[in-house]
Amino acid sequence: MMNSKKVIPTLSLAALLVSSALHAETSPEKTDVLLIGGGIMSASMGTMLEELQPGWKQIMVEKLDGVALESSNGWNNAGTGHSANMELNYTPERKDGSIDVSKALEINEAFMVSRQFWSAQIKEGVLHDPRSFINSTPHMSFVWGDNVDFLTKRYAALQKTALFQGMKFSTDHKQIAQWAPLVMEGRDPQQKVAATWTPVGTDVNYGEITRQLIGSLKKNDNFRLETSSEVTDFKRNGDNSWHVTIKDAKNGSERAVDAKYVFIGAGGGALKLLQKTGIPEADNYAGFPVGGSFLVTENSAIADRHLAKVYGQASTGAPPMSVPHLDTRYLDGKRVVLFGPFATFSTKFLKNGSLFDLLSTTTTHNIVPMTDVGMDNFDLVKYLIGQVMLSDEDRFESLKEYYPDAKKEDWKLIQAGQRVQIIKKDADKGGVLKLGTEIVTDQQKTVAALLGASPGASTAAPISLSVMQKLFPEEFKSPEWQAKIHKMIPGYGQKLNDNVPLLQQVWNETAATLQLTTPPVINMEGKTADAPAAQPQQAAPSAKHDMAL
Ligand SMILES: Cc1cc2nc3c(=O)[nH]c(=O)nc-3n(C[C@H](O)[C@H](O)[C@H](O)COP(=O)(O)OP(=O)(O)OC[C@H]3O[C@@H](n4cnc5c(N)ncnc54)[C@H](O)[C@@H]3O)c2cc1C
Repeated sequence: MMNSKKVIPTLSLAALLVSSALHAETSPEKTDVLLIGGGIMSASMGTMLEELQPGWKQIMVEKLDGVALESSNGWNNAGTGHSANMELNYTPERKDGSIDVSKALEINEAFMVSRQFWSAQIKEGVLHDPRSFINSTPHMSFVWGDNVDFLTKRYAALQKTALFQGMKFSTDHKQIAQWAPLVMEGRDPQQKVAATWTPVGTDVNYGEITRQLIGSLKKNDNFRLETSSEVTDFKRNGDNSWHVTIKDAKNGSERAVDAKYVFIGAGGGALKLLQKTGIPEADNYAGFPVGGSFLVTENSAIADRHLAKVYGQASTGAPPMSVPHLDTRYLDGKRVVLFGPFATFSTKFLKNGSLFDLLSTTTTHNIVPMTDVGMDNFDLVKYLIGQVMLSDEDRFESLKEYYPDAKKEDWKLIQAGQRVQIIKKDADKGGVLKLGTEIVTDQQKTVAALLGASPGASTAAPISLSVMQKLFPEEFKSPEWQAKIHKMIPGYGQKLNDNVPLLQQVWNETAATLQLTTPPVINMEGKTADAPAAQPQQAAPSAKHDMAL
């Protein structure tokens, strides 16, 4: 018989073995980085990290069956490479009548960073065949009536900047008809009109970029993509890493991953996930969904006669998300024309989301800011109600303002993606509507979430760099990372507008690699930019809205 002194250690050993065996079975997989969402933002983050820190393990989880099926999908957005060439809301008129070009410069600089990033990926063989995802498409602004004076001033102000060289201006019907025949045919010859046109604009298929970036990432042993996998919860571990619960969208089973760093690139799903982390920073935000629909024609007789993205002016009082545009798009291997957007309303935060999204993200922390924003932005509320009430006839009438000879039978209405407008707590106003992109991180620098809508996919590269700077400040500063970042983005950290030789070099090189229109030769002699105002001038009220769909 075994004596009791021997039994106790034997039992303890057995218990230890059983417990460690059980633990081995259930202990979560570990990863350095967990990327949530298979859209352009996670794809860009993952690609940059692979370049900067190739040893790190990365897992990307996407709740749908494939990647690029939400907002980044080509059919779910307008595909504009936002450079502020034609988006009039990026150049608000100041109270004194002068034009503020600072936002336009910022947007253009950001797109130059994305161009450099994509160009570097072509050279590395990560992206292939630039024509499959980016195509030169002239960018035009087109206005009539009272807006002609505004466009004249806008053009003059942009002419003083290096980034907007190559732009042309006209009030002549014949000239504008050469740029965009469909816009002028059938138009009253007496109508006072004006347009700007630049050949260096682009149409971008962000879905294709996403698929190609993730396709390349999958070739690395340290990267894994898991589709049909929905992140449902987070707990913080003792070492500050995250214990993340992932549900199999097909059979409902759950598993967990322990991640040192989490990137919430879940588009409209990001706010809900941010709230689930429980970090105090999440309490500052609420979300309000605005969807978009477009009229589209695949009739090649029309598409072949329109080669431009033509952006107009939002009607008086309406927020800039109502900016109508008639766009050439390259989708599914063909050229189509799209007009819109028309705002749509649903309580879903993602096109494939749940009708409870709005309700489930409304908390005791954010209900007051939400109500304040609703009361302060009556024009937006009124606009949204008006949009939801539009009939097919109303939408067709809007199209005819840009394409007077349009025929109903050529056009169908398609539902694009959902955007979640961000409402942020504000000490003075209670809550404010934020129309740019918000990067929210925790104090421990282990989780980052991307909230917000504008200017969207065009800024995937600069936004990814900003996220990395916040999450990995030490690595970001290191000579190793800096050298790699500058190799990828030669103009990184510089204002190209203030450095003409560098701008010329970056513009020419990216145009050559991406097979885009050759940029103009920049000559700024005699073109002195407006001196900055001694006192920052108050922009007109509409300037706070910086979203262009
Ligand atoms: C109508 C419209 C027009 C637009 N036009 C333009 C334009 O012209 N130019 C431009 O630059 N931008 C435009 N945008 C914005 C642009 O589409 C978005 O900014 C961009 O695609 C966002 O990319 P993302 O990767 O953050 O999100 P998404 O592409 O939406 O990807 C997020 C992914 O996360 C997944 N996900 C969500 N929750 C979870 C979860 N819990 N677990 C796992 N996965 C999850 C989703 O299924 C989705 O696949 C437009 C948007 C809309 C709606």
